[in-house]
Amino acid sequence: MLTLILAPAAPVRAADSLEDTVAARLRAKLTLESDRPVRVSVLRGTPDTGVLGAAVLPGGKGYPEGWLFLHAGGETAFEGDPAFAALAAKVSVLSAEEHRVFGQARAYTPPQPSKHPAKSTADYRTALRLPYALGQAWSYTGGPHPMSGSARSSIDLAGGDGRVLAAGSGLAYTMCDSKKGWLRVVHDRGLATDYYHLSGNIAANGDRVAEGDFLGDIGTDVSCGGSASGAHVHFSLRRDGAYVPMDHYVFGKWVIRAQGDPYDGFAMHGSTRVDIDGKLPNYGPLGLDQGLVDTDGGTALNRRAGPGTAQPVVGTVADGETVTIQCSATGTEHTGRDGYRSTLWDKLADGTWVSDVYVWTGTGEPVDGTC
Ligand SMILES: [Zn+2]
Repeated sequence: MLTLILAPAAPVRAADSLEDTVAARLRAKLTLESDRPVRVSVLRGTPDTGVLGAAVLPGGKGYPEGWLFLHAGGETAFEGDPAFAALAAKVSVLSAEEHRVFGQARAYTPPQPSKHPAKSTADYRTALRLPYALGQAWSYTGGPHPMSGSARSSIDLAGGDGRVLAAGSGLAYTMCDSKKGWLRVVHDRGLATDYYHLSGNIAANGDRVAEGDFLGDIGTDVSCGGSASGAHVHFSLRRDGAYVPMDHYVFGKWVIRAQGDPYDGFAMHGSTRVDIDGKLPNYGPLGLDQGLVDTDGGTALNRRAGPGTAQPVVGTVADGETVTIQCSATGTEHTGRDGYRSTLWDKLADGTWVSDVYVWTGTGEPVDGTC
């Protein structure tokens, strides 16, 4: 009988664990105290292959914030960090789709305030739906309010069949180490959406989801922080790795608007306005080259033979209708909602023209080039 006498293993120092290293780096990035709790979960990989994980600053009574992180070659990068895209190439356990999406990630830059957002070069297009079945009308129980931080990045929605669906295609991740309640879907164009308070959510670790795929039911889960007085989904928007104000962004052909204090706001579909506790029928995504007719009053919009009011009227299109834009050109100047003034005209898919100030596209720039 062979007896092996093993030397006692060297004690593993807690300070050396990957989790502790990542937690310490997140605290340093955010200049937090050294005893601030950070919950780190490794989603995939080892220090040898590189690691993909989630790091969460739990919320307590407030909401949490969470970042996907990459760790390779002793380096750690969180979503929104300048090094994130380059580090993705060094993590071999990422899928081809993760390499593509993370490899395109841009560093976060704070948004520039603008007096006339609709006319700015800001781009509020999302090509996302509201996070439930098309045709259902859920209650808009909370206008734009923060997740973590001060950006009013999130709205509350409840009702319908209670099934929370992906607002668009992307890669899904369970963010909280409880694996409950909180999913993130990383979309193209630097956008991501978060779904919080879910009950019976799917377990996701980079799974590809399509627009409309089931994520979980509305619920009251707060395992990473926050509070919920009734079953709902807290639906948040992120861009370039940070929560961004939802004001002016479009989901399900509703333009989300903030006003007053957090939780105050409304939503616009053309000239139709829905206030808090009203119902939002989900009309599906507004395409990147589409617009919503918004005549700032609800009258029909003239379609003309060319880009200007000197051109003959060849038809009309109703307020709230969706139009597809071929290209844009300069024409006569007009003023639309919120003082948006522009000489831009859009040539529609049927060859007729409308002034861009009466078509909400999410940007004051041409959405599909110039004619
Ligand atoms: Zn909320």
